[in-house]
Amino acid sequence: MSAQADRQRFACRGDYGRIKPVPVPLLDLDAQHRPLRDALLAAMTRVADSQRFILGPEIEALERELAAMLGIRHAVAVSSGTDALLLALMALDVKPGDEVVTPTFSFFATAGAVARLGARPVFVDIDPVTFNLDPAQTAAAITPKTKAIIPVHLFGLCADLDPIMDAAARAGVPVVEDAAQAIGAAYKTRSAGGIGAFGCFSFFPSKNLGAFGDAGLVTTNDDGLAGRARLLRNHGMQPKYYHHAVGGNFRMDALQAAVLRVKAPHLAEWTHARRRNAERYRCLFKDAGLDAMITLPLEPAGYRHIFNQFVIRTPERDALKRHLDEQGIGNEIYYPVPFHLQPCFADLGYGRGAFPHAERAAGECLAIPIYGELTAAQQQTVVSAIAQFVHRGAGVAR
Ligand SMILES: *Cc1c(COP(=O)(O)O)cnc(C)c1O
Repeated sequence: MSAQADRQRFACRGDYGRIKPVPVPLLDLDAQHRPLRDALLAAMTRVADSQRFILGPEIEALERELAAMLGIRHAVAVSSGTDALLLALMALDVKPGDEVVTPTFSFFATAGAVARLGARPVFVDIDPVTFNLDPAQTAAAITPKTKAIIPVHLFGLCADLDPIMDAAARAGVPVVEDAAQAIGAAYKTRSAGGIGAFGCFSFFPSKNLGAFGDAGLVTTNDDGLAGRARLLRNHGMQPKYYHHAVGGNFRMDALQAAVLRVKAPHLAEWTHARRRNAERYRCLFKDAGLDAMITLPLEPAGYRHIFNQFVIRTPERDALKRHLDEQGIGNEIYYPVPFHLQPCFADLGYGRGAFPHAERAAGECLAIPIYGELTAAQQQTVVSAIAQFVHRGAGVAR
């Protein structure tokens, strides 16, 4: 008998205290890819047979399909989400001496792209409820040196873009949306990545639309910026061996494009499943009497959250994490250290206490499984494990 069947047999006897629940992974890509296996292999074979590995028809088709899907005029396929940010900032001519405003709470690439161009990242605190860039503090951080503002749509929820776009427009500064976690998210009827000068997406395997490796996308509604991004993506070269600007190799592999073309038509149904799972968590947390102890993610009116991560908050985060690890429940801290406290940014001169909301979020947030293929039973297992932790010592679920 398998270990899993064994556990279920004991569970049927009501022997809950002694046994661990069936593990729930944070993400199960195999469950997503299994039904598409034949189509994915056929797409990869098509590229192998064509021998068109660099740019070419797969890339062009993917760009057309994603631009149509997102409702954005131009889509430029690139090598990663990190490179999407770097390329967008290069296309906006960000250079040493410039400042770029970013939230202090995000994945490293947001600030890393700024620093790699020799510019100074200027950090801003987050809104404590949405985890996203605080608009008033963003406006206050703009100086004559500001060359761009990068709001991040963290975990799949758009930043409050209207006041950020207004402040940027008043200062004549472009906005680059870090939409790496937000493909398909919406802000007041508009698509994430289509509101600022550029949108930057990632197809890292754990994103809602993931490649079989690294890949990314730059989007824009501006013809001139699209041309600039295309030029810089391929060493500023047009035609071959004539270089108009110093760009880089930021090209997406045709193999990744072929994989993404198989997966992209399913994104809407996968996103729907993530949103359904988020609703189900709301009910399960409430039913378990946890809603007063654990803060659940919010979807403000007029926003469409796509739940790349479902991030809960509790001051007892570290102990809860240990408990879930012991129970085999997938979880992760996104992100444990805000940018202004990272060793590599120590020379920027920010200290502890500079951005209290971000620092608090870094100590309290914990992502739990939310992927579309997650079953109701698995969600119940996750919530029961959290309930066991919260009600420990209260004589419940022991
Ligand atoms: C994933 C991610 C990136 C970088 O994308 P890669 O494809 O991994 O390079 C940038 N910003 C945010 C917010 C991300 O989550």
